[in-house]
Amino acid sequence: MNKTAKETAKKPAAQSEAKPTAPAKIKVATMWLSGCSGCHMSFLDIDERIVELVKHVDILFSPIVDTKVADMPQVDVGIVEGCVNNSDQEHELKMLRERCKVLIALGDCAVTGNIPTLRNQFPLEDVLSRGFEQTESTKIPIIPNDPVVPPLRPKAQPLQEVVKVDLHIPGCPPDADTIWFALTELLAGRVPQLNEKNMRYD
Ligand code: SF4
Repeated sequence: MNKTAKETAKKPAAQSEAKPTAPAKIKVATMWLSGCSGCHMSFLDIDERIVELVKHVDILFSPIVDTKVADMPQVDVGIVEGCVNNSDQEHELKMLRERCKVLIALGDCAVTGNIPTLRNQFPLEDVLSRGFEQTESTKIPIIPNDPVVPPLRPKAQPLQEVVKVDLHIPGCPPDADTIWFALTELLAGRVPQLNEKNMRYD
């Protein structure tokens, strides 16, 4: 027997079986260029708040997960520690910039160049010679030239001199509360406004 139009309207099959879906998680990548890992350590210093964070974000690419550069996914937010010092780092940073919507420079090395850029005051050949030929502990003075070793760029540079950066979080390292503030503001759909309160490091 055919159903009447009234019966069909009472219980549309698709609607009656629909289940509520959880909001999509924000996809995040973090990258470690020329830095000491202190900024990533500070990120992990958000401690138990990371349990809350992972309810809202998926960390798909990072030194703390095992994803290879060739498989770098599209993400919403890219967070980068360290400055751009060699050709591989430049390549990986540009790849992340293409694959993320918001790029964050995390820490002074990423924001200003900081310690790794101290070498910029010397010619590259002097830097390599001091590091590999003249160092007191050197036994066999050879500057590495294997093609698997990425060549140093002439100068180390902060991120914004290489790619467009959307947000800078300075500090060496930025403290965990500042990183947490920035991430939660982004999750709330706001641009984090860093001020004298969350930029204090004493
Ligand atoms: S900003 Fe400081 S803590 Fe962060 S990578 Fe550079 S030296 Fe390390």
